[in-house]
Amino acid sequence: MFDPAPTRIAGSAFDAHHPPSNEIIEKCVHCGFCLPVCPTYVLWGQEMDSPRGRIYLMKLASEGATEMTSNWVRHFDSCLGCMACMSACPSGVDYGKLIEATRAQIERNTERSPGEKRYRRFLFEHFTRPERLKRIRLPLLAYQKSGLQVVVRASGLLKLLPKRLQVLESLLPRLGRNEAVAERTPAAGTKRLRVGLLLGCVQREFFPQVNAATARVLAAEGCEVIAPRTQPCCGALLVHAGEEAAALELAKKTIDAFEGTNVDAIVSNAAGCGSNVKDYAYLLRDDPAYADRARSFSAKCKDVSEVLADLGPRATLHPLKLRVAFHDSCHLRHAQGVQFQPRALLSRIPELQLAEIPEAAICCGSAGIYNLVQPDAASAIGDRKANLIAPLKADVVATGNPGCLLQLQTSLARNGQRTLVVHTIQLLDASMRGIEPKTLLK
Ligand code: SF4
Ligand code: SF4
Repeated sequence: MFDPAPTRIAGSAFDAHHPPSNEIIEKCVHCGFCLPVCPTYVLWGQEMDSPRGRIYLMKLASEGATEMTSNWVRHFDSCLGCMACMSACPSGVDYGKLIEATRAQIERNTERSPGEKRYRRFLFEHFTRPERLKRIRLPLLAYQKSGLQVVVRASGLLKLLPKRLQVLESLLPRLGRNEAVAERTPAAGTKRLRVGLLLGCVQREFFPQVNAATARVLAAEGCEVIAPRTQPCCGALLVHAGEEAAALELAKKTIDAFEGTNVDAIVSNAAGCGSNVKDYAYLLRDDPAYADRARSFSAKCKDVSEVLADLGPRATLHPLKLRVAFHDSCHLRHAQGVQFQPRALLSRIPELQLAEIPEAAICCGSAGIYNLVQPDAASAIGDRKANLIAPLKADVVATGNPGCLLQLQTSLARNGQRTLVVHTIQLLDASMRGIEPKTLLK
């Protein structure tokens, strides 16, 4: 069970509640194969902002050779948790488990400045609560539809706001019609699967069109889709930021919401959420009431592209004459190992031309709340990605995560590119419905 105030391990900077595993730390042979894919190492060229350097810092803290000083913490705050280092590591170092444990230690045992604490609390209290996002949706919609956003952005007024507000404003998605997903969507034709749909928080309120498209595509491919109303936030943002206690509570509530739905699979269309729910078995491993339930829950979790690729095509696809650059979301490619399925699905669409973005293994700078708490690094990483996308002359960029969608939209716009960014499932939906590519590009 989770102990909110664990005691400190003698001779170590860490407390006794799941410190970063020495066994994993020792697996690192310092070869450096992970360095070229680490966005912060690529950016700054500093060893301590590389995976190898961060693992060494964990080792020092574990052996009591350093405290968790603000300088030490800085190197972990700058890590995007993108897991590109894991995919590149020939020794199988599970950096994901190390950074998750380290972040939880940091949040329990170090003190952030009052301003930072307030800001992080604001982010967690809003981005993990769909009902709160729903309340701010309407004023934001009015801000955009009235034309005020265009005026404010053009006037330079934003520069007078505190940096954090500027960043939040710059990442606002273009809000549209709210398309709620029904609690049950019947399968078209003979039912092939009964699936549960994770609605997400940001996805549910800011990208409802993505959830609606997901339910339509799954139904068209013969899935009965169940979207329980009682499902809360899955806790992904919290767990990736070291807020373990709050994350565990949401994990348990999510499991409760899907229990009894009798679904064959639990489908996610947000890579960060998908990797988190697949990890519930690990997160809740020492909770006697939930460990077994979490194991069976996680075993059913799949990204929507995995489900559709496994099912094989049944619905008719109409041509979409578009050049599409596909961006791998890190929590899909590295954390879930899902890389080929979205490409395979897009390749099924007649006349669609798929373009590969160079440095595909490297993050776009979104990474949960990273672009909100580390805006300068996130912008630099986003600019690099935008500059790699520009020569592709793509009509559309497709990706599988709402955070990447926001980050790419903002980075492309900042670099003068008007390329549309959509979720992969929206292209499949448009193709199934025979939507004119021109309509999509409007
Ligand atoms: S998770 Fe990403 S940013 Fe962090 S060390 Fe690994 S590659 Fe670098
Ligand atoms: S690739 Fe793996 S073993 Fe090599 S330095 Fe990076 S984490 Fe360590």
